[in-house]
Amino acid sequence: MATVRIANLCKTYGTGKNAVEALRDVDLDIGDGEFFVVLGPSGAGKTTLLKSVAGLVDAEAGDVEIAGVPMEGVEPYHRNVAMAFESYALYPQKTVFDNLASPLRSGRTGKYSAEQQRQRIEAVTTTLGIAHLLKRFPRELSNGQRQRVALGRVLVRPADVYLLDEPLSHLDAKLRAQMRAELKQLGEMSNTTSLYVTHDYQEALALGNRIAVLRSGRVVQVGTPEDIWRRPVDTFVAKALGQPEINLFDVTAEGGALRGAGGDLSLPLPRHLDLPAGRARVGIRPRDLQLGAGGPGTLSLRGRVSLAERLGRLMEFSVDVGPAGDPEHVIVVADSDAGAREGDVVDLHLALENVHVFAPGAPSEDSVRLGPATHEGVAR
Ligand code: ADP
Ligand code: MG
Repeated sequence: MATVRIANLCKTYGTGKNAVEALRDVDLDIGDGEFFVVLGPSGAGKTTLLKSVAGLVDAEAGDVEIAGVPMEGVEPYHRNVAMAFESYALYPQKTVFDNLASPLRSGRTGKYSAEQQRQRIEAVTTTLGIAHLLKRFPRELSNGQRQRVALGRVLVRPADVYLLDEPLSHLDAKLRAQMRAELKQLGEMSNTTSLYVTHDYQEALALGNRIAVLRSGRVVQVGTPEDIWRRPVDTFVAKALGQPEINLFDVTAEGGALRGAGGDLSLPLPRHLDLPAGRARVGIRPRDLQLGAGGPGTLSLRGRVSLAERLGRLMEFSVDVGPAGDPEHVIVVADSDAGAREGDVVDLHLALENVHVFAPGAPSEDSVRLGPATHEGVAR
């Protein structure tokens, strides 16, 4: 077990016109035993970050410390980290068992008796659901099974820090959800410090003790899943979490209210929100909206259902709010259809504390969070 400290880490690939800034001033403090997730789209710099911690990439600036020890000049082999790569490699001529045992037989960790090897392999393969495959060769496995064996090769080896690079990306949705639950258990049980990167927000929310959102090599927000979900710092983070995406509307401040959608969206302008330009963006998550008229302390909307679709137990509606010629399409995900059909006019409401208000973005195009629409809702 170990802490991981990353300070001012910068990495640029190439030079001149071809330079790609993969990491820019990345600061992260990962606690002992923490399961820390880095969430970001493809190209955000996730793999580069893990490789920097592993010592496989030379950052041009910044420091990495593991267990309080600066890693500058420490070879990957001596860092006592175990890394699972996105593209996994197995020994084709070895069985699954031998693939899993090889990290326990080689080099520094080669002090395991045959019985200890068997025990570690059994524990890991049971968790990963591959215990029945030990005698097979890699060519006799599906992609998903191969990826789990590759992950197993990392987890059987005791290490200070596990670095996991999208280890579930090749699995189908059902297996991914199942493995997510198992990995979470494994993380909680083993108490090993893990740095896990993914582009899948559900994985991040399910697995992370804390999450860092990475965008174009920069950390945009760090927090618990609850923080990131409830208090996204900007519209980039708000849009990165949730499917369907958060609804965003342009609003203007008029006479103590925020108005949008041609006046059909109106909410009291909370006193604590300072809007110098008189403009803002309002964010509403599809799942926070409910069908039916709301009472006091809620934001109410009325619109016409343009699309109603069943998503398993849930219903997804697209509701046109505002002028008929230029409506806002509001996406709603509700528990029941409440009898609403395409073409019906429906009322919608949500608690004001679930209305996110963002200021128009400068310098980035992404608006910055000001707070929820209620004063009481400002938790901190
Ligand atoms: P992620 O894992 O989040 O998809 P990467 O860390 O792989 O992101 O890449 C970050 C950026 O750096 C991308 O723009 C990618 O194209 C670039 N990059 C990664 N590796 C190299 C490399 N070896 N040479 C040049 N550019 C690279
Ligand atoms: Mg990657």
